[in-house]
Amino acid sequence: MKREGRGTQGRNRSATSSRRAGGKGSPTLRSSGGGEQEGGRHFLPVTSVARNGQVGLALKPERERSLLRRHPWIFSGAIERLAGAPGSGETVEVRASDGRFLAWAAYSPQSQIRARVWNFEESELPGPALFRRRIESALALRQAVIPQQTTDACRLVHGEADGLPGLIVDRYGDTLVAQVLSTGVERWRDVLADTLIELTGCARIYERSDADVRELEGLPARIGLMRGENAPASPLEILEHGLRYAVDVIGGQKTGFYLDQRDNRRRIRELAAGRDVLNCFCYTGGFSLAALAGGARSVSSIDSSGPALELARRNVANNGLDASRAEWVEADVFRSLREARERGRSFDLIVLDPPKFAPTEKHAQAAARAYKDINLNALKLLRPGGLLATFSCSGGVSADLFQKIVAGAAADANASCAILDRFHAAADHPVLIEFPEGEYLKGLLLRRN
Ligand code: SAH
Repeated sequence: MKREGRGTQGRNRSATSSRRAGGKGSPTLRSSGGGEQEGGRHFLPVTSVARNGQVGLALKPERERSLLRRHPWIFSGAIERLAGAPGSGETVEVRASDGRFLAWAAYSPQSQIRARVWNFEESELPGPALFRRRIESALALRQAVIPQQTTDACRLVHGEADGLPGLIVDRYGDTLVAQVLSTGVERWRDVLADTLIELTGCARIYERSDADVRELEGLPARIGLMRGENAPASPLEILEHGLRYAVDVIGGQKTGFYLDQRDNRRRIRELAAGRDVLNCFCYTGGFSLAALAGGARSVSSIDSSGPALELARRNVANNGLDASRAEWVEADVFRSLREARERGRSFDLIVLDPPKFAPTEKHAQAAARAYKDINLNALKLLRPGGLLATFSCSGGVSADLFQKIVAGAAADANASCAILDRFHAAADHPVLIEFPEGEYLKGLLLRRN
């Protein structure tokens, strides 16, 4: 599935003022180029750009608005003219229809998201120095938000939210696992990889660029050792809130583990004592282990992936938890929930953490039906006073819409529920206020009255 992306980057401090003012105070890199630096800056699409040896694009009138608010995506439909023939991942200069400088961006010839912003600062072309600052800033953020004793695994780089659109890096001990998901990152992969190794001191980077979104960028899948001498142990082991988890970074889903649920797993641990728990879409047993460690009476876990369940069983054993209280079911959750009802089963705590049903808003309707189905059937299995922790990691479904869907499910299940809490991704998955799309993971903690 899924999951993706704070504002402490400390970047582009003067971008807004320089953009609004029409890009004065200009750039060393362009100073040798043409005579149009100062003055009115009327847009000269081909000439201004080509003369400086820089490919570029001009936006349609009014389409600069989102960029002025620092949103980092340029959709193909917003582009009026292209100057030069930028290659995949090449840096392009982005200008408004009136010629104002807006941003430096990475060009993606095949994607609907035709360019992703590297930098809103005209005076600095993207390159090693910028990338180093962005990675330093990303590392500083994690240091600030994740106490060292909590875990040795975290998301180090979260794409757009860390000013590196298309780059995901998770750290598991001394292994980094990277996903290169944009043409811009692909083009700068060596510089980024070298800088990551240098700044983290990690032993290796393993690449898991096998996500579907690569296809949209016209990039082939790529898996393997990116830096370092030896491939990582498979599985390797991490520690999270005192629990040991085996993580298969080579064959597992995404980069191997769903780090975004760290805080929510701890919450489930606090709530589980004495309860009969049902964990749907359990993967390698994250919430199941948390519930067992929290003193659950029983934990039944469902996933369609055999290898994930195998690792889950191993995780229970590795932590010395009582395996007799755990039941593992390899099955389809949609069907299992109905069957459980037919067999008259019921639970005190149910977790629903499905894969991404709606990658974009286009898929929201079909996704809404799927969310409603599982929430409805889960609520029917919940004893009065029982708790439902229900999640959506769909970028295309907002927190608001998700709550409405769950409300519809509760109405159809004839269940009155109180919202006890709202869930989010852990703080190492920052969300930029100017890029709300980055807030993909949302959840509700409900109590059935
Ligand atoms: N809660 C987990 C992450 C869940 S990821 C954690 O904290 O680690 C979503 C999981 O849903 C994956 O393991 C995938 O194998 C599983 N899955 C996807 N579709 C499914 C289906 N229809 N029935 C059962 N499991 C499914």
